[in-house]
Amino acid sequence: MAAKINANFNNISESYLFARVNQLVREFQEQHPDREIIRMGIGDVTRPLAAKVVEALKAASDEQGKQETFHGYGPEQGYDFLKEAVRGYYKRHGVDLELNEIFISDGAKSDCGNLMDLFSIDNTVLVPDPVYPVYVDTNVMAGRKIIYADANEQNHFLPLPDESQDADIIYICSPNNPTGAAYSREQLKAWVDYANRRGSIIFFDAAYECFVTGDMPRSIYEIEGAKTCAVEICSFSKKAGFTGTRCGYTVVPMDLVRDGHAINKMWLRRQTTKFNGTAYIIQRGAAAVFTPEGEAECEANLEYYRGNAKVITDTLDRMGIFYTGGVYSPYIWLKCPGDRNSWDFFSDLLEKTGVVGTPGAGFGKNGEKFFRLTAFSTRENTEKAMKKFYEVYGRN
Ligand code: PLP
Repeated sequence: MAAKINANFNNISESYLFARVNQLVREFQEQHPDREIIRMGIGDVTRPLAAKVVEALKAASDEQGKQETFHGYGPEQGYDFLKEAVRGYYKRHGVDLELNEIFISDGAKSDCGNLMDLFSIDNTVLVPDPVYPVYVDTNVMAGRKIIYADANEQNHFLPLPDESQDADIIYICSPNNPTGAAYSREQLKAWVDYANRRGSIIFFDAAYECFVTGDMPRSIYEIEGAKTCAVEICSFSKKAGFTGTRCGYTVVPMDLVRDGHAINKMWLRRQTTKFNGTAYIIQRGAAAVFTPEGEAECEANLEYYRGNAKVITDTLDRMGIFYTGGVYSPYIWLKCPGDRNSWDFFSDLLEKTGVVGTPGAGFGKNGEKFFRLTAFSTRENTEKAMKKFYEVYGRN
């Protein structure tokens, strides 16, 4: 008898999107070694960690080298000092959490998939289209049925519940990757009501909440009723440049119960079995994000990205091109000029301007005619890229 593989892996598509983008850019560079390439496709940040965070990381490293301050295994769900800091952050935005509702993670991506350990294979999973591919692939790997909520120009890429769809688990990402669109309170309330009515559970991915300003909701728990139907997944990646440092957190409310089981208790059991906690040093760095100096430094970086986003949206406004995002998000999701398909537009843009973005088709069928630009480049390159963009497509 040989080991049998999980045959569901036969059903996941090759992750070809960024590989294909990179391949096409490489070929272009080989053919045009003198041409400048400006990368506006990546979702990775470029600004370094805040000085306050680096200071905390160094101090924690020193602690680990001394007998008196050395830390071995920590609590699987995270140290209280970081959970207190996260709780304080929510409190400032009007949300009360208990400490044991917060679970520190090594980033949002892991928990996006791991949470499904708690739920039967028979659940039907609803994801928007276009979508962050992790939600789809983790569920296809497990063999769950996936249904889609169409996000398109008509609904400004913010689909609302469709009573004819029977969804058990619902992934919502707001502000959204890839579309940058952000739900209002009323729109989120419609999802919360739908989930509570049906007994569904919402996985709310708040990885981009840090870009929200004004009265828009940052957390689903700002919506009445969310604590009985939603888990929230969040990250320090975009908020504080932790993409390479790795830290996040997941909130599982005590009031979330299904089939007579407290989801919080199940998640704790799952984490204590399969996860040994986020590194002490990293958690100290993450806690520094919430100090006044840390917050000011991180906010300055976010302002820089917001400024880049404005350079992009100002150009698109001037050209009368439809887009979503760019306001509460580092992503700008634009309609390809000239009604082109996204891969054609990718090649045309690269050829004519040297600018690299991400074809919308890579995120789902509704992305076929759309394109994602990100605000994570430098100001200089963003301005240069959008000037070229205007020169080439402004007259189309
Ligand atoms: N969720 C969304 C929507 C993302 O776009 C990303 C990263 O780009 C993540 C989660 C992953 O975050 P982390 O770096 O914390 O794993």
